[in-house]
Amino acid sequence: MVQKYGGTSVGDADRIRAVAEHVARTRRAGHDVVVVVSAMGRTTDDLIRLAGEVSSSPSPREYDMLVSVGERITAPLVCMALGDFGVPAVSFTGSQAGIITTPEHSRAKIIEVRGDRVREALAEGKVAVVAGFQGVSTERNVTTLGRGASDTTAVALAAALGASMCEIYTDVTGVFSADPRVVPNAKRLARVSFDEMLEISATGGRVLMLRSVEFARRHHVTLHVRSSFTWEPGTIVTEEDPTMEQAVVTAVTHDISEAKITVAGVVDRPGVAGRLFRALATKSINVDMIVQNISSHGTTDISFTLPRLDLKTGVEVCNELANELGASGVSSDDAIGRVSVIGAGMKTHPGVTAAMFETLAREDINIEMISTSTIRISCVVREEDVERAVRSLHDAFELG
Ligand code: ADP
Ligand code: ASP
Ligand code: MG
Repeated sequence: MVQKYGGTSVGDADRIRAVAEHVARTRRAGHDVVVVVSAMGRTTDDLIRLAGEVSSSPSPREYDMLVSVGERITAPLVCMALGDFGVPAVSFTGSQAGIITTPEHSRAKIIEVRGDRVREALAEGKVAVVAGFQGVSTERNVTTLGRGASDTTAVALAAALGASMCEIYTDVTGVFSADPRVVPNAKRLARVSFDEMLEISATGGRVLMLRSVEFARRHHVTLHVRSSFTWEPGTIVTEEDPTMEQAVVTAVTHDISEAKITVAGVVDRPGVAGRLFRALATKSINVDMIVQNISSHGTTDISFTLPRLDLKTGVEVCNELANELGASGVSSDDAIGRVSVIGAGMKTHPGVTAAMFETLAREDINIEMISTSTIRISCVVREEDVERAVRSLHDAFELG
């Protein structure tokens, strides 16, 4: 059994003792346990802020050496607490646990999980407690895997060790029909398919990091998202059950971490979009929604969304290319938000798009961009309208 505990779940000494007690209980039930921990409370945010205070552009290597420390504090503390419950335990850094990654700092990807020392610890009857969020690169540097990536560490270990289940303990009782902090009557979902969970995570439902869900689906790891405060059963994330009728709409999500760039008046000829988006990709910028208008007089406007953290670089890239693309201007907007409705049943059920647009219209919320997949519809709106949009859609689709 792999159990991952998020930041709030290990936020102070009492919480760490409560977690250790639960791990001891799981062991008594006959499981070998691997624990993956996050940094305590807001430690990671504090470390990131410190880095920003001493340097305007910290070296990526030193940045990862610093921000990976949070998890390395939690792991030995959990082991010490386990000792008091009579459970032998040993802590490992990501590197010691054999989490081998690509070299790009802050967004490294896992290439391989060796896990030898974790297996040895289990064979000796110990609980292995692994610092999440980090690994070691093929160039032997400490790397981190992106915000929220302790989820990914846990799923990767579960896959590598052939665990029967990966439990993700957090501060809510499961995956909800919307963020329960925004929609008070949001409902806990007993079961979610990987396809739906991928869309939920990709569109702002941060309860599971997107990459951890991709990993779980690829390696057939069933996830159980649940609360470390109440310990009640939560949400099972697994393969779709073909015998079950699919809900038309399962969840409404929102995301206010993106910004929009518009490159106006670019010449309308083959190769222009390729040139622009290649330049952005070279800077590792993940572009999301893209809209291109019909051209008039041989020119067109291209708008796209990207993470706010990458906005400055994105604008620089566009400005550098503006001349070559014949663009008349580059503008940016970081006060946007995205609302999405997700549901596997939408594939075979017309009218969801219309119902979404009508609901937003009734709230007098203007839609700036639209994108869809077979099981999702997303709209970009003003940031200040996002929460109202989420609540009205949640009501309109009767998800409460
Ligand atoms: P952890 O530190 O345990 O990893 P996170 O803060 O990363 O916890 O994720 C849990 C949070 O995700 C919840 O507190 C909740 O506010 C937020 N959240 C957003 N959307 C959802 C959703 N659809 N269901 C459950 N939680 C959600
Ligand atoms: N501590 C890291 C973060 O805050 C990783 C995690 O919590 O999953 O992003
Ligand atoms: Mg998280």
